[in-house]
Amino acid sequence: MKKITIAIVGGGSVGVAYFTQLINEAVRQGLSRHLDVLIFESQKTSGPGYAYQADFECNLLNTRADAMSAVAGDKRHFIRWLEEHGADQAVDFPQTVIDDHAFLPRSLFGRYLAHQYEQTMALARAHGVKVTAVTSTVTDLISLSDQRPCIDTESGVAYVADRVVLSMGNLPSTRFTQLNDVAGFVRTPYPTRDMVRNIPANASVCVLGTGLSAIDTVLSLTEAGHQGKIVMASRTGRLPSVRGTFNRPHTLTHLTRAHIDNFCDVNGGQLKLHDVFTMLLREIEEVTGDALDLKRILNSGAGVLDYITSEIMQADNAERLWQSVIYSTNSIIDYVWHRLSRDDKQVFQTTFGSLWSSYRVSVPVKNAHKLQALLKADRILVLGGVSQVTYNEASKVFETRIDDRRSAFRTVIESEYVINATGYSVQVEHSDVPLVVNLLRRKLAKPNEFGGFELDFETGRLVGAAGEAWPHVSVLGSLATGTYFWTNAMDVNVRLARRQVEDALSVLSGSISHTALPSARVPRRRSVTRRGRTASASASTRHSRRYGLKAAQGNASVLGVPVRGELVSPTTQLV
Ligand SMILES: Cc1cc2nc3c(=O)[nH]c(=O)nc-3n(C[C@H](O)[C@H](O)[C@H](O)COP(=O)(O)OP(=O)(O)OC[C@H]3O[C@@H](n4cnc5c(N)ncnc54)[C@H](O)[C@@H]3O)c2cc1C
Repeated sequence: MKKITIAIVGGGSVGVAYFTQLINEAVRQGLSRHLDVLIFESQKTSGPGYAYQADFECNLLNTRADAMSAVAGDKRHFIRWLEEHGADQAVDFPQTVIDDHAFLPRSLFGRYLAHQYEQTMALARAHGVKVTAVTSTVTDLISLSDQRPCIDTESGVAYVADRVVLSMGNLPSTRFTQLNDVAGFVRTPYPTRDMVRNIPANASVCVLGTGLSAIDTVLSLTEAGHQGKIVMASRTGRLPSVRGTFNRPHTLTHLTRAHIDNFCDVNGGQLKLHDVFTMLLREIEEVTGDALDLKRILNSGAGVLDYITSEIMQADNAERLWQSVIYSTNSIIDYVWHRLSRDDKQVFQTTFGSLWSSYRVSVPVKNAHKLQALLKADRILVLGGVSQVTYNEASKVFETRIDDRRSAFRTVIESEYVINATGYSVQVEHSDVPLVVNLLRRKLAKPNEFGGFELDFETGRLVGAAGEAWPHVSVLGSLATGTYFWTNAMDVNVRLARRQVEDALSVLSGSISHTALPSARVPRRRSVTRRGRTASASASTRHSRRYGLKAAQGNASVLGVPVRGELVSPTTQLV
């Protein structure tokens, strides 16, 4: 049996979920000795990634502890880790009561992920898997003559793998970039414990956004002792819904794959947005035993304090059944999205996208109480209708223009600091991340109009500009959002990772017959680097220098120069 090398680009929660499931499955199937793994991570540690990095205790998971896991089909994986290791963590999380139903600090989940990474590393090595962890940023992928990817890194070392999984997380926000270099503009609030250190306690602050990241920002500031006035401002001014304390998992009965397939079969293959709403409505009304009171759920006429007060009351009093149903759609959401027509996807994204996010990504009641207290004490102001943010050089303040057409309220918020808490970008075509730029430029990838890269739905494989899928490269997480829609939930990403593990291992287990791949012409090498410069290398001698190639040792080549099968030694940087 042959041996394969699988490379994981990005060691955040999704990369670690892939790695864990890959090793577990390879061991279970007796394939471990036929597997080498490369893990590329820009940061020194793998596991927490961005969302679950070390940070303030008040930055909570928006999902119950018993639904957070790095292993598909094992929902209690994190809980079992807490049972075993929770006591060791208590000293760093003094305000946290560990409980299956609790919304725990995200950084605690990050510790679980870091531990998971170490455990998986040990398991892999014990079963003969050679794992190489590379602390460097991947800047480029090149398709070799047999279509295997050659992975280029910032350190100047290149590697060859049979499979690459891109799990590189979210792209930096591309909003308000004109302010990026202005002192006092904070591009991202995370980690919030670093952010608060740079903002004087009495400074005036405008937080752009009213979603969960904006709430993390406000609570981190106030818990660190911030005294100055804080304004939260977004286009809609809508705070998220509050997550019910008594919600239980729901099993879908109408919105199932079988039901959708049947429905499409008898309706000419079409699933309309209206049909999805109808199925969802049926799910909700069946569990509530009542007609859905959408007006009550949306509560859109209420003022901010009334809204949050009413939300807290509903969350604290009984199970919010509509939320239980909406959360349960995680098990099918990618398939529903896949079956919708392009027009319906567009309608959803433009008309309902923001509403869906506010009601689907709800705030844990513990943080909602804190927000309510700040609103009551007049410590924060929440506004909608942001139309423009500029910096006034003369008065040295930021000016956030508010033009709320619904309430006909207009004003300009002046602040010494502006924090961009509007989230991240999924628009690959606007990104300056070198790997993204290079994949697009080489036409090995193309943008999906709904975000991220175009992918093959079943396998997650990257689809190139010519429309064919690259069998050796797949994508998970944020850059897969246009294909799978809800890639900002751990359980969805873990399930999709599991599917890609099975696809990768099927090559080894021989469950899929492997046809010879047509050899691809390798494009002239031109890499965009982190510094944004472009380098070209057409002569094979330059490639030899670049990759430190001495002799033909493998069957792959870059422009006729053989590349070693696994590690290619570092040499001169061309750029
Ligand atoms: C603030 C926040 C809170 C969230 N909270 C929740 C929650 O409570 N529950 C939930 O289910 N979901 C939550 N999510 C959504 C989802 O779970 C996260 O988006 C998830 O962390 C994504 O993980 P990731 O591994 O894809 O990305 P990341 O966590 O961003 O990790 C990507 C990793 O890849 C590395 N990397 C990137 N590019 C390269 C490269 N070129 N070469 C080498 N390394 C690279 C980065 O250094 C990073 O460590 C949250 C998301 C955010 C942003």
